[in-house]
Amino acid sequence: MTDEEIKTGVFICHCGGNISDVVDCAAVVEMAKNLPKVVHAEEYIFMCSDAGQALIKNAIDEKGLNRVVVAACPPSLHEMTFKKVLESKDVNPYYFEQANIREHCSWIHKNNPKEATKKSSGLVSSAVAKINIQMELFSTHIDPVVHSLVIGGGVSGLRAAKDIARRNIQVTLIEKTAILGGRMNDLDTLYPTGDKAKELIGELIKEVKTDNRITVLTNTEMTNFEGVVGDYKIELTSSDPPSTREVNIGAVVLATGFKPYEPPEGEYLYKKSPNVVTLPDFIKYMENNESENGYLMWEGKPVRRTAFIHCVGSREEEIGHQKERMNAYCSRVCCTSIMHTAAELKEKCPETYLYSIFRDIRTYGHNHEAYNEVASETDMLFVRYNLRNLPQVTKSDEFPFKIQVKDQLLDHLELEIFVDLIVLGVGIEPEAIDDIVELTRVSRGTDGFLKEIHPKLRPVETSVDGILLAGTAQAPLTSTEATIHASAAAAKVAVIMAKGVSISGEIAEIDSEECHGCGICIKICPYEAISFEDKPEISTAHPVAVLAELLCKGCGTCVSACPSGIITAKGYTDEQINAQIDAIF
Ligand code: SF4
Ligand code: SF4
Ligand code: SF4
Repeated sequence: MTDEEIKTGVFICHCGGNISDVVDCAAVVEMAKNLPKVVHAEEYIFMCSDAGQALIKNAIDEKGLNRVVVAACPPSLHEMTFKKVLESKDVNPYYFEQANIREHCSWIHKNNPKEATKKSSGLVSSAVAKINIQMELFSTHIDPVVHSLVIGGGVSGLRAAKDIARRNIQVTLIEKTAILGGRMNDLDTLYPTGDKAKELIGELIKEVKTDNRITVLTNTEMTNFEGVVGDYKIELTSSDPPSTREVNIGAVVLATGFKPYEPPEGEYLYKKSPNVVTLPDFIKYMENNESENGYLMWEGKPVRRTAFIHCVGSREEEIGHQKERMNAYCSRVCCTSIMHTAAELKEKCPETYLYSIFRDIRTYGHNHEAYNEVASETDMLFVRYNLRNLPQVTKSDEFPFKIQVKDQLLDHLELEIFVDLIVLGVGIEPEAIDDIVELTRVSRGTDGFLKEIHPKLRPVETSVDGILLAGTAQAPLTSTEATIHASAAAAKVAVIMAKGVSISGEIAEIDSEECHGCGICIKICPYEAISFEDKPEISTAHPVAVLAELLCKGCGTCVSACPSGIITAKGYTDEQINAQIDAIF
């Protein structure tokens, strides 16, 4: 803390009516006016709006505020907005505190306005108590290394590399296999344009390979990852010829892609019969085989009837499946892909009769519904099953298979469908990237895909600063969506490179002179930010713990673990927490 006189301002937000319909904001303002060091308190309909921000700026000018509390939504939404307001008025942004009286008060206690108001007053008092004894903190600025790494050579990785490079940022693109292009290499035509996938991806590969700002390394993987955003030291290991190199990188794009769901042997007789095939394999087969007399030939025989079964390996729940791992999510692209493939099959082999055995038809997306209509016009028979009654596939005589299914559209009437070929509309699963997750510590969702910080506010950023997501590493996406997504990740890389990196001042502080050398903090720190150092001037008997400030995320784990109590969380000191508790009670 400095010696200046502390002048705290409190601003209570209505959030439209989200807060003020429940909380008596005027009463909270009156209460706040009597809190220690508070020289100004007021309420407003939207504090985050330009007009709301102007109120804070005016009060800073007129009342000389040097501490600000806003009681509103969670800090995750608008803490940065308000900190920037303080910065614009030359007030240290660490002298800002936000109390969440929306989720914690008006929303959760909407049927009890009196208690919601009382709780809001408690949270505002607590925030004021904390900010009144806040220490002066500063962020650290890093000029980033203007070189980015893209991991994955599929359509998202290539698009991201191209978009980053065109902003004159050096890119190294690594691909673990021998070829670029990823899953696009397995596709024939793309919806909704009908473009040839191989031609499109071929063009993009050519553009990337001929761009002298991009270094492409195939058969290459990341084998070590250290450092901080703006200055990562990354080891790359190539298999052909075997070699290891270290690159200094400012930001990383993970474009690690997906893999198609591989049904276990026996699921709908998969791998028990050659006439049960996954959709990706069927697309490849169709591309390479011509029709004979209006039929597709399979195992030397004409395919008279083809059944597409939807949602294989997607939208699973325990009720219908007995598997070790279940994919509860919708893979999003398979319905459109089935309809697209069915329409192409009918065009190529007009004598084939088609069945769609579906749970729901989700041909979402611009113009994708058209595929559903086209497939419907082919006389394709649609049969709707549900999870409680999965289709049962058995072998048969005249046709290789009998599919028994209770049709939800016909009041659960049990149908027997005889077909030559079954195409499994398999879903999408995340690529096997445990090694990358372990090295970088990016988070995964419960579905196994990599997780963004916030789906709307920060959709391509991960919990690790400077690591961005592109494409299906994050979720099932069409190739169009994946490229848009990759461009967004590239734009984020450009922002990091242009603006530099700011490391928070809210980190740990170790009083190394008092360290007993137990090493608990070193073992417990999730970011490897603490290490032992020999400091004879402090202790000749044992090394002591020291902090790498740029690596510390201020999570506070070491603070609570240190048995000597000599680690402080700056901005969250014991004194501040105790003052908050006292203020509430
Ligand atoms: Fe099932 Fe269609 Fe979703 Fe794929 S897109 S999981 S087939 S509902
Ligand atoms: Fe590590 Fe968290 Fe302690 Fe920082 S606050 S040193 S990140 S445990
Ligand atoms: Fe030193 Fe505390 Fe870390 Fe033990 S936990 S090594 S006493 S700082």
